[in-house]
Parts: sequence; C-alpha cells; structure tokens
Amino acid sequence: MEEVKGEEKVNTEGVIRQEDPLELHYKKFRQKISECYKELRAIGVICRHDYACCLSCASYEMADRYGDDTDYVYYHGGDNDNVQNGAKTCYLRWNLTSEKLPQVIEILKKYGCDYPGYGKAFVFPVPE
Ligand SMILES: [Zn+2]
Repeated sequence: MEEVKGEEKVNTEGVIRQEDPLELHYKKFRQKISECYKELRAIGVICRHDYACCLSCASYEMADRYGDDTDYVYYHGGDNDNVQNGAKTCYLRWNLTSEKLPQVIEILKKYGCDYPGYGKAFVFPVPE
C-alpha cells in the first residue's frame, strides 16, 4: 500500500506550509476506501462514496434505485463529514445478499473491519 504524504502548499504570500492534517487524514481515508471498493466492485458489489446526506435519505435512495436484492455498500454525506472533521472510523452501510455477505466480510477484514460491526454497518478504520 502506497503511503500518502502531506503536500507542501504555497500560500498567497509565497510561504510554504505543510498540508492541513485534516486534509491529509481525509486523503488517506479516501485512498484506503477506494482500494477496498476496487476489490468489492470486482466481486460485483455496488460501492458509493459520500452518498446522499444522511442514513434515511441514503437508504431510501439506494433501495429505490437498486432494489433490495442488490449488493451494495456506501457511506453517506454525514459519515463523510465526520471523517473530514477527523473521525477515526467511518460507517460503511451495506445491503448484501446471503451469498455475497461472506465474501465481503473476507475482503473487509483486510481493511480492519470486524463483523458484525454496528447494526447494518461495517466500522471502517481510517489509517493513521
Ligand atoms: Zn438526508
């Protein structure tokens, strides 16, 4: 896994500063969850980033769009905001068929998610 490093940024006075720790935190999260999503997509799971605003809107929209017998995972806008504000974990909400669930659990274990997580969510750890 390639390490994400903070970029040096130049402000309007031409002073170089280190990248904001929260930006870096979020960047690491996005890199890790994107790697995870790549593996999940390879087994046919629909994966969404920063989807809708909250759990009730997101679960309604996903079910409306894909139906109940489709395999999908996502984190919603509120979960995304929490990570941007420094949360060390992100809830990865899911709808998975009994056939797909064990395969997804195996993949997510590699990313530090235990099963069961929190209700119908895996607890995805953000890398330090
Ligand atoms: Zn909402």
